Amino acid sequence: MASPQLTSLQVQQLSDAVVQYIASQHEAYLPFAMPLAEEQRLAMEGFFVPEVVDGVRLVVLQNSRVQNPAFYPQLLQMGFQNLPDFRTMAAITFGNVVVSHLPFTDGLLFHELVHVEQYRQLGIPHFSSLYVRGFLSGGGYEGIPLERNAYALGARFEGNPQQRFSVSNEVAEWIQNDRF
Ligand SMILES: [Zn+2]
Repeated sequence: MASPQLTSLQVQQLSDAVVQYIASQHEAYLPFAMPLAEEQRLAMEGFFVPEVVDGVRLVVLQNSRVQNPAFYPQLLQMGFQNLPDFRTMAAITFGNVVVSHLPFTDGLLFHELVHVEQYRQLGIPHFSSLYVRGFLSGGGYEGIPLERNAYALGARFEGNPQQRFSVSNEVAEWIQNDRF
C-alpha cells in the first residue's frame, strides 16, 4: 500500500501534470455539458452558493469513459500500485464540469458539487497539489482529505436531504484548519 517516495521536485511535477490533465478534460467535455435540471437545482439549492448551482455543468457519458492521465504508465513503472482508476469511477469533477458514467442520483451529484466548491475556493493548481499530496501521504484514494471531506458532507446530506447547511462554510473551515 505504500507509494514510492518522491522528491519534492517530482511531487511538484506530478501536481503540474495533474493541472494539465484537469484543464484538458475540462476543455474536452465542456462543449457537451449542461446546466442542472430544475429538479437537481431544487435539491441542491441552499447547500451550495449560487455560483456553484448556476455555474456547474454536467455530462453523462453513454458509450465512452473518462480516460486516465497520459502519465499513468510512468507512475506504474515507478511502482505505484493503487492509482485511482478514473475509468471505473461513478463520476469525476474537472473544475465546474462533472463527467459521470452513471445517471446522477442526488447523492452522487452532491458529492461532485462539493468538489466543484473545493475547486472554486482553491483554484485548479492548489486543488491538484492537495489532491496529489493527499494521495501520497494518505496511502491512496480513500486517504485523500479532499475526498474524505466530500464523502463526509455527502453522508450528512444523505442522512437528511432537507436539512440545509453551508458546504461553502464547511470547505472554508477545512482550508483554514489545514485539513486538506
Ligand atoms: Zn470525490
